[in-house]
Amino acid sequence: MTVTPNMDFVNDIIANGGESVNMCYQCGTCTASCPSGRQTSFRTRRLVRMAQLGLKDETLSSEDLWFCTTCYTCTERCPRDVAIVDIIIAMRNLAVASGNMFEGHKKVAQSLLKNGHTVPINDEVKAQRKALGLSEVPPTVLASKDAKKDFDKIMKATGFKKTIGE
Ligand code: SF4
Ligand code: SF4
Repeated sequence: MTVTPNMDFVNDIIANGGESVNMCYQCGTCTASCPSGRQTSFRTRRLVRMAQLGLKDETLSSEDLWFCTTCYTCTERCPRDVAIVDIIIAMRNLAVASGNMFEGHKKVAQSLLKNGHTVPINDEVKAQRKALGLSEVPPTVLASKDAKKDFDKIMKATGFKKTIGE
């Protein structure tokens, strides 16, 4: 298979918050530290290298891009102070802009759009909150119709629905 590198890709990542992408010297500490990589095929070092090599299409369509849990272990351990999570978030934003959003993340975004929260409250959580002496519904947009109206206005103004491909 012939792969055509896109050398603008790394500049796009830098422009979107991943300024340190070229600082990586491929030591592999991030991969060895990554809890997600222990359970999946995701290799942090490889993802950063793909970005450096300009493998735009391959990176933005890769499921690996969505397996990072943003735990920041790699960022804390990187000997080159590469802000790896910032790079991954920059690449995710570029992926979404190009119509590539991982299905699981899309479901979370849809929940946010519908409820104003990424995790909607259910009866079990309500009971747990009550047992702890808290209000059944947290004092957030979930409990405030006015706040939800404001939230909906923001979602409309930002075009979030379109962004997540709804
Ligand atoms: S730990 Fe840092 S320098 Fe090493 S491979 Fe990962 S990003 Fe690159
Ligand atoms: S922040 Fe992401 S890439 Fe880094 S160690 Fe955690 S899960 Fe792995």
